[in-house]
Amino acid sequence: MIGTGILKGMAVTARNFVGSYFEKDRLITVQYPEERTPLAENYRNFPFLIYDTDDAEAGLRCVACKICEKECPPQCIYIIKSEDKKPDYMGKPQFYPAVFDIDISVCMSCQICVEVCPFEAIKMDKVFELSRRERFDALLQRKRELSKSNTYYHSICPTEAAEVDAKLAEAAAKKKPTPPPAAGSAPAAEPTPAPVI
Ligand code: SF4
Ligand code: SF4
Repeated sequence: MIGTGILKGMAVTARNFVGSYFEKDRLITVQYPEERTPLAENYRNFPFLIYDTDDAEAGLRCVACKICEKECPPQCIYIIKSEDKKPDYMGKPQFYPAVFDIDISVCMSCQICVEVCPFEAIKMDKVFELSRRERFDALLQRKRELSKSNTYYHSICPTEAAEVDAKLAEAAAKKKPTPPPAAGSAPAAEPTPAPVI
């Protein structure tokens, strides 16, 4: 019958309209900004830089290798490498970014910078209220604004952050030098030669 589809559609609308007064699940409109819908864990919007410990400068994982800058499709990352070095999270002296800017008006939230970073130093944030009243400089997010703690990363993406921590701990354990045998202990046994067949 002509118009059946329209009637079915109107019935769904009516059911949701009336139901929204009685069932919270049907009430999909929230009074933003006072009320906010919780974001999914895999929601992503804009990159941020991770630092370990409480020191945003000393604990920054980024070593200014510039891979993300090179790979960013719209070229919205701008890095200047430091002249000196500081110890990274494993104690190895590394360069760090003297300047690290991302242009929020150009970033397209593709996450490629995150995928190419070999140091787990850049991740995607959930912040979306990034509009500015001014153009140009105001649209550049500087290193200071981009740097956020690993604790913050755990608060927005607990599953992913735990996986990253485990991966870094494993890498650190592999790099630890084997301690020399204790004085007076028996020397290590010679390996048994393989039998000649
Ligand atoms: S998310 Fe994509 S566009 Fe934005 S800074 Fe990273 S690589 Fe560039
Ligand atoms: S964020 Fe990662 S890929 Fe980009 S410069 Fe820093 S260490 Fe290199």
